[in-house]
Amino acid sequence: MSSDAIKTVAVLGAGTMGNGIAHVFARAGHRVVLRDLEKRFLDRALETISKNLDREIKKGKITEAEKFDALARIEAVTEDVALVGADLVVEAVSEQRELKIRVLRQVDAMLGPGVILASNTSSISITDLAAHTSRPDRFIGMHFMNPVPVMKLVEVIRGLATSDTTFQRTMALCEKLGKTAVAVNDAPGFVSNRVLMPMINEAAFAVMEGVANPEAVDEIMKLGMNHPMGPLELADLIGLDVCVEILDVLQKGLGDPKYRACPLLRKYVAAGWLGRKSERGFYKY
Ligand code: NAD
Repeated sequence: MSSDAIKTVAVLGAGTMGNGIAHVFARAGHRVVLRDLEKRFLDRALETISKNLDREIKKGKITEAEKFDALARIEAVTEDVALVGADLVVEAVSEQRELKIRVLRQVDAMLGPGVILASNTSSISITDLAAHTSRPDRFIGMHFMNPVPVMKLVEVIRGLATSDTTFQRTMALCEKLGKTAVAVNDAPGFVSNRVLMPMINEAAFAVMEGVANPEAVDEIMKLGMNHPMGPLELADLIGLDVCVEILDVLQKGLGDPKYRACPLLRKYVAAGWLGRKSERGFYKY
C-alpha cells in the first residue's frame, strides 16, 4: 500500500500536538478522526484549529472555502469505535509510557492488518512502544514539531522492528503533508530532544540560581545565538510538564545524571504552571 492509500487518519489526543496534527492531515485532504477523553478537550481543539486556519487565510495561504472543507473533514469523537476504518493512527496522548501503552494496545486490537501505528512521542522508545502491540513492523515514530501547522520538520524514528515498507510509506506521507522528514534511529529523546532539552534545563538552572531572569536568558539566546525563540519561551510553548517528562526519560534511558530536571521546572509543574496552555509558566499569558 502506498501513502496514497492512506485516506482516513485517526489522531489520539487533541491537545497541543493532536490538534495541530489533525489540522495538517485535514489540510492535505485526509479524513481525520480526532479522539480525546472529553468533549470539552475536543471543543477546545476544534476552536484552536479554526483560529489557526484563520491565520492561514490572513496570510493568503488558503481561502475561506478551503478552511471550511478542512474543518468538515475532521470528526471529533470520544469513543474508540470511531477509529475502526482508519488507515493510519497517530498517537498524541500525554507523554506517559504506561498511558501510551494502554491506549496503543486498545487501538491495535481494533485495526486491520495493513494499518500503520505511529507515535508522536517526544522521547519514549519506539521499539518499546511497538513491542506492546501486535504490529512492531508497522509501528513508527512520527515526531511532529510544535506548532505543527507552521513547523516543517517531522523527525521520523525507526524502531528496531520497523519494516522498510512502513518507513518508506511514512516518509512519503510526510512529503505529501508538505513536511520535511528526517530519519533517525531509536534512542532516548531521539535527536531533537536530546539536544534541545539540556539547553532548556540549563536555562532553568540559570534562572533558579539567580544568574539572570527569564527575559534576560531568552534575550541572550535570541540576540547572541540567533535563536528565533529563547529557551524559556520555547519551554512554555512545549509545556513545562512535557519538558520534565522528557528529561526523566533522558536521565533514565541514558543513565546519566546530567539530564536531571531542574528543581525549578518541577516546582512550576507542581504549581500547575505548565506554560502557555495553563496561561502561566516562566511568563504570564
Ligand atoms: P497535551 O497535554 O496538550 O495533550 C494530550 C491530550 O491527550 C490531552 O488532551 C488529553 O486529554 C489526551 N488524552 C489523555 N489520555 C487519553 C486517552 N486515553 N485517549 C485519548 N486522549 C487522551 O500534550 P501534547 O503537548 O499535545 O503532547 C502529546 C504528545 O506529543 C506527547 O507524547 C508529547 O511528548 C508529544 N510532543 C509534544 C510537543 C510539544 O511541544 N508539546 C512536541 C512534540 C511532541
